[in-house]
Amino acid sequence: PAFVDFRDVWLAYNDELLAQNHFAVEAIDLQVRRGEFIAIVGPSGCGKSTFMKLATGLRMPSMGKILIDSQPVTGPLKISGMAFQSPSLLPWRTTVDNVLLPLEIVEPHRSQFKAKRKEYEERARNLLKKVGLGGYEDKFPWQLSGGMQQRASICRALIHEPKMLLLDEPFGALDAFTREELWCILRDLHAEQQFNVILVTHDLRESVFLADTVYVMSKSPGRFVVRREIDFPRP
Ligand code: ADP
Ligand code: ADP
Repeated sequence: PAFVDFRDVWLAYNDELLAQNHFAVEAIDLQVRRGEFIAIVGPSGCGKSTFMKLATGLRMPSMGKILIDSQPVTGPLKISGMAFQSPSLLPWRTTVDNVLLPLEIVEPHRSQFKAKRKEYEERARNLLKKVGLGGYEDKFPWQLSGGMQQRASICRALIHEPKMLLLDEPFGALDAFTREELWCILRDLHAEQQFNVILVTHDLRESVFLADTVYVMSKSPGRFVVRREIDFPRP
């Protein structure tokens, strides 16, 4: 079975919009297999952020059904990690402490986090090394470049070993060289750990380089549909 399964999903943001038949996304049917890396490209306002909110359970569909790992989505999912265009690290925390944040939140009791802190910190430091941040673990965000902060934010998204990584324009603010370096790092992490990735991007080249499948989301009058599916061979 598909890992992510959207079955005829529609979303209107509120009752008024629903009454006017004004949907942010319409009739999305999309199946993603376990471990697949998909990219969604499309113009502003076509529904990409809305799709992400649905895939993480931050929004419930007005109509249709979403299954993740064969379970109906009923609320925000702990199995996903997220990174956005802005790295938004907490400025008073070191790199490693920023990366550990999701584990602190996911662990139900503070004492459990403390008991496992050493093991978690080891995991965070290993991950930081993999993305080229060895030596920067104990620095603060203001001591890192934008690209380094973005690497840290990807580590933060992966630290609790999520089954699904959601990336919304994560490389949009970076220079071309840093961006391509991070593409390679992400591709390697994905090849190694086989989590699912949903990447939203305006950059077609990025989508082709990284994703197994690229979906083009279009915005026709009043309607937002996943229109075309392109399969590219991986480089
Ligand atoms: P992006 O193109 O990066 O998704 P947008 O400016 O389209 O950025 O939207 C950013 C966020 O602002 C959306 O995810 C949504 O939560 C909110 N937003 C966008 N359009 C509206 C709207 N018409 N009414 C209320 N909130 C909106
Ligand atoms: P994208 O991420 O592709 O830019 P969005 O998912 O943000 O697109 O937006 C899709 C449509 O839904 C747009 O028409 C946008 O204005 C609308 N929208 C987004 N967020 C909200 C919101 N919170 N309330 C009402 N309308 C919204």
